Amino acid sequence: MAKMKKTEVKPFKEMLLILRARLRGDVSTLANAALSKSSGGGSGSSSVPSHIADIGSDTFEQDNTILLMNNEGETLSQIEAALERIEEGVYGSCIECSGRIPKMRLKTIPYTPYCVKCASQLESENY
Ligand SMILES: [Zn+2]
Repeated sequence: MAKMKKTEVKPFKEMLLILRARLRGDVSTLANAALSKSSGGGSGSSSVPSHIADIGSDTFEQDNTILLMNNEGETLSQIEAALERIEEGVYGSCIECSGRIPKMRLKTIPYTPYCVKCASQLESENY
C-alpha cells in the first residue's frame, strides 16, 4: 500500500487545517499567516508572526481557487475526511482504488480522496 511519510503529509495537514478554519469562519489573519509561512518552507514552529498585518490579499486570492472548486459544505466534509485519513496514516491513497494520489494533485486539492483516474470516472458518472 502506498503510504506517505509523516514529513510528506505535514504540509498538506497544515493546509487542510487552515482551509478548515477558514471555511468555518474561525480565523482569517491567523490562517493567512500560517499559510504564507508553511509555503515558505516552514521550520515547524507554530508561533504566530507579529507582522500579520503586512500580509496582503495575494495569498487569500490564491486560496480561493481551491475553495471555489466545490461548495463550502461539501469541501468542509472532505477536509474533515482527509484529516481523518491523515490520522489513520492512509492520506495520499485513493479511497477507490488504493492507488497513490500524485503530490501535484494534492497540492491543488489537498482534501481529495481520489486519484486522477477515479475522480474523472466519478465526475463522468455525475454529469
Ligand atoms: Zn483511484
